[in-house]
Amino acid sequence: MIANVHSIETFSSLDGPGIRYVLFLQGCNLACKYCHNIDTIPRINYKQMSVDEVVNDFLKYKAFYQDGGITISGGEPLLQLDFIIALFEKLKEYNVHTAIQTQGTIFQDNPKFRKLIDLTNLFIVDLKGVNNTEVKKITNVKLDNTFLLLDILNKENKKFYITYVLVPEINNSNYHIEELGKILKRFNQANYKFKVLKYHKLGLDKWTQLGIKYELDKYREATSKDVGEFLDKLKSYIQ
Ligand code: SF4
Repeated sequence: MIANVHSIETFSSLDGPGIRYVLFLQGCNLACKYCHNIDTIPRINYKQMSVDEVVNDFLKYKAFYQDGGITISGGEPLLQLDFIIALFEKLKEYNVHTAIQTQGTIFQDNPKFRKLIDLTNLFIVDLKGVNNTEVKKITNVKLDNTFLLLDILNKENKKFYITYVLVPEINNSNYHIEELGKILKRFNQANYKFKVLKYHKLGLDKWTQLGIKYELDKYREATSKDVGEFLDKLKSYIQ
């Protein structure tokens, strides 16, 4: 089984518990206006790696990852579902903690995805909006499959993080907070963590190099204060 790989980060502390080996897969079904890895979007044959190559590469560094493990990111990793299943099956032989970063919009409730859920210790689900109307300010997609994934993870008592990129003046109003509160209330608090990520423009150079217009240019980056205020207000909706 072969994957199209964008890049590998061998020492990340941001993509799940502990120190992580992060495999960024090439290709995404979306084109988010704030994408900071726009070069991962094209579904092209980039660097190719087999399951054994990834496993052997991970095992070289295994001693570093005692409380961590491997995280599959992208692009959108679920586009390469068969590869991830084969990879995680192999990694489970070595008792490795497995995580996936996904926006969940291509998730389906079928046996293959159910198998992936069984093999995955942690899902990190990026929520692109609070509903199918609001999400259009960020990307052209519906969130039904993302919500289906979250509801199944919750029902199965799996561990998951929900991440939400805060873009000032676009998705941090009281309306967004209230809608988010309704979403989070559905889930058992023991199963999930909610994380707000600050919108930034670090990937802007890549857009410029590719000659693609960056629509969010006129919006400022989010600050720690924005995140603090957002979370304070959100608390009153989920307690
Ligand atoms: S889902 Fe992620 S990789 Fe895909 S376009 Fe959006 S931000 Fe970029």
